[in-house]
Amino acid sequence: MDVVIEETKQILREYHLCDYCLGRMFASRLGLVSHKNLGKKIRKIIKQNNPKSCYLCKNLMPELDVFLKKMLDISKEYEFSTFLIGAILKPSILDRDDIVRSKFKLRGIAGIKSDITREIGKQFGKKTRTKVDYQNPDIVFTIDFKKEECEIKPKALILQGRYTKEIRGIPQKQVSCNRCDGKGCFICDFHGITEFNSVEGKIAKFMFEKFGAQQAKITWIGSEDESSLVLGNGRPFFVKLINPHKRKITLSKNITLDGISILHLRAVSKLPSDQIKFKTDVLLHCDRKRSSS
Ligand SMILES: [Zn+2]
Ligand SMILES: [Zn+2]
Repeated sequence: MDVVIEETKQILREYHLCDYCLGRMFASRLGLVSHKNLGKKIRKIIKQNNPKSCYLCKNLMPELDVFLKKMLDISKEYEFSTFLIGAILKPSILDRDDIVRSKFKLRGIAGIKSDITREIGKQFGKKTRTKVDYQNPDIVFTIDFKKEECEIKPKALILQGRYTKEIRGIPQKQVSCNRCDGKGCFICDFHGITEFNSVEGKIAKFMFEKFGAQQAKITWIGSEDESSLVLGNGRPFFVKLINPHKRKITLSKNITLDGISILHLRAVSKLPSDQIKFKTDVLLHCDRKRSSS
């Protein structure tokens, strides 16, 4: 600790640093986790008050609350248990971080960017009782500290099920919104479709209402004619829900929609990469046309 105090004095003679930035310079060397507490402790020992502004982060670290509030607001409507945070910082902050670290030969220290995401992630996780997941998070935040904006992107949800069609005259596929060609626009409420009179449309509508999803991209296993029925166990399909607000929904085994039913709908981890083996029995009714003579 004595060495640290000596070095701190040197650093603080040249730069004003906040508790977070000061603590970060020495935390790994002392094996401590809380940068803020360490900074506070060092400052107490050398009897120095908090600076008005931190040379390095310009008080971004002590004032992360603003961004934490943005994250809480923006994620309120989403269901999630894991998250990940990405940060966009002003290059000048990263430059100053490099300057201080190289000038005082401080090696093996977490950079300010990872420290910011770590710190705000810790606070956000505590408030929402959720966890950081680097591999497969339910939602990803991108905080732009330059523009003071925060974006949220939920992971797509993939479901698998089968459908049956009990009445004739329902096409399998829905025509895309003619304004955006299915990409999503204001006219179609970003769904990519404006009508819901096909198997695709009926399934999509159910997904929008149930999961608060923006779009439902369906992978069909085979196709059928508008005039055909789909009976028996039904035709398998996969659906990828874009921007779902809900993730944990209890689904009934048989969901009856207008003219079609969805059977055994459940969440799966990914879309199939191989061809799905699927056996179809086709039943044809053939009437021989009688001659009129
Ligand atoms: Zn700072
Ligand atoms: Zn559109």
